[in-house]
Amino acid sequence: MKAAILTDVTKCTGCMECVIACKKHNDQDPDFPRRWHRDDGLSAHNWTSIIEKPDSHYVRKQCRHCLEAACVSVCPVAALIKTAEGPVIYDPDICMGCRYCMVACPYGIPRYDWDKPAAYVQKCNMCIDLIRQGQQPACTEACSYKATIFGDRDQLLDEAHKLIEQHPDKYIDHVFGEFEVGGSSVLYISDIDLGFLSYPLKPGITPLPETTKTAMEAVPLTFAGMGAMMGGLYWICKRRAKLQESKNKEDQE
Ligand code: SF4
Ligand code: SF4
Ligand code: SF4
Repeated sequence: MKAAILTDVTKCTGCMECVIACKKHNDQDPDFPRRWHRDDGLSAHNWTSIIEKPDSHYVRKQCRHCLEAACVSVCPVAALIKTAEGPVIYDPDICMGCRYCMVACPYGIPRYDWDKPAAYVQKCNMCIDLIRQGQQPACTEACSYKATIFGDRDQLLDEAHKLIEQHPDKYIDHVFGEFEVGGSSVLYISDIDLGFLSYPLKPGITPLPETTKTAMEAVPLTFAGMGAMMGGLYWICKRRAKLQESKNKEDQE
């Protein structure tokens, strides 16, 4: 099974149960508004959000878990990986804080965590811990309207196309995420255009790693070397901060 999520915008009531369940399951701290926060509700402590649109439309935003993820392709230390199960996951112990993933993501998903002494990037991991235990993500479990559901990608795609065929007056004839930038594990059906969820507004179907690979190859070796050196220094500083943090904790105990 290739784990995936299908969100039906027409069914979402904006009740926020998915957002609350995500925060609870992932033990996330309360969010403090920052001047540089975008207005989509995502942050290092909010891995999913509900965007309100005119005429009582509520659109869930989260990592799309791209099949050929740009964030994975640009990470110089492989802190982000696309798992065999489907989710794109992140290892904070490997991350060196370069933030290439934040620039590369076509959906503007990864967020920097300014509250940690050692900087981390944060994003939805599709509750990989639950999936590996044979369960579904906290957000889909919490949605009593079945507006966001979990399942196998191929089966969810079949279901999405069936719904569009059965209700041509209700849905736009498009499964968002089926092909965009190579396709994603988070899919949407909707009665409004969801182009606003991505940058640029109309992503092509070419997987972004093909573009980022060309761009990365074009970076002169000198710059790449400097980047690696700065990254290495940053990584050492981060490890030191972490060690200091655990030492402080031990001293307090
Ligand atoms: S729990 Fe379901 S209905 Fe409520 S906001 Fe989330 S997706 Fe929408
Ligand atoms: S949506 Fe962005 S962060 Fe998520 S897998 Fe795709 S490129 Fe990576
Ligand atoms: S899949 Fe898990 S981590 Fe991702 S938005 Fe849902 S609850 Fe949060």
